[in-house]
Amino acid sequence: MNPADSSSPLRLLIHGASGRMGQSLLRLAAEQPDQFTVVGAVTGRPPPQRVVDGVPHFAAREMNGVPAFDVVIDFSLPEGFDSILSLCSQRGAALVSGTTGLSDAQRQTLDEASERIPLVWASNFSLGVAVLTELTERAAKALAQWDCDIIESHHTQKKDAPSGTALTLGQAASTAGVEVHYASLRAGDIVGEHTVQFAGLGERIELVHRATNRDIFARGALHAARRLAGKPPGSYRVRDLLD
Ligand code: NAD
Repeated sequence: MNPADSSSPLRLLIHGASGRMGQSLLRLAAEQPDQFTVVGAVTGRPPPQRVVDGVPHFAAREMNGVPAFDVVIDFSLPEGFDSILSLCSQRGAALVSGTTGLSDAQRQTLDEASERIPLVWASNFSLGVAVLTELTERAAKALAQWDCDIIESHHTQKKDAPSGTALTLGQAASTAGVEVHYASLRAGDIVGEHTVQFAGLGERIELVHRATNRDIFARGALHAARRLAGKPPGSYRVRDLLD
């Protein structure tokens, strides 16, 4: 890893750079030059410009030519995931990934890679959802006999359903033996809303999280990248990397 001196900027590669999340990451990283140097940006299709604001851009098929980096932040699509994971393993670099909709085989490869590199994969990098997950786990333990439904809403471009976050919340509830049902809405430009509902006889609890700006996910991923760099190989959770 580059930062033998942890005060030097982290060398970042952004994978999925032309997407909504990628653009947010590039903007926020550029606002903190003492913390991050973006050494490259990778997009699925060939980039219209080779260098944007001083950052070299690469198409996914040119990825072997990217310069040395400490950490990749990946918010792309499942079809681009295998090659970025394999590049991190080859280069011994850390991986922060928020890509959702991964297959079981991809999750398995991710687990295996954690024996060689430090990595964090999370369906949601916001602090609010980390707390919502804990609240869900707690409510499910106390209300194991109630019906549990998770309702999620996202913008119309979102490909996977239920969302990765809904599945993570469902997993938290099911640790208490609750059977979870899911409902997904795709409408307008909704950034992300999740409601975990517990319904009993004559009463109901709703735990709601609304994301109004996707910068919350990008900030969380940048924070995780800073904390992950230089750690021993392993699979870390967002909550392991909070201060
Ligand atoms: P988007 O469709 O706007 O962008 C996708 C990006 O992936 C683009 O840059 C595209 O060029 C790139 N891409 C597509 N195919 C590729 C390939 N084969 N190789 C390399 N790159 C490829 O999507 P988005 O809204 O930015 O979301 C990206 C991902 O992040 C999705 O999986 C989404 O569900 C997830 N997401 C996660 C969180 C979280 O906190 N974990 C938050 C928001 C979004």
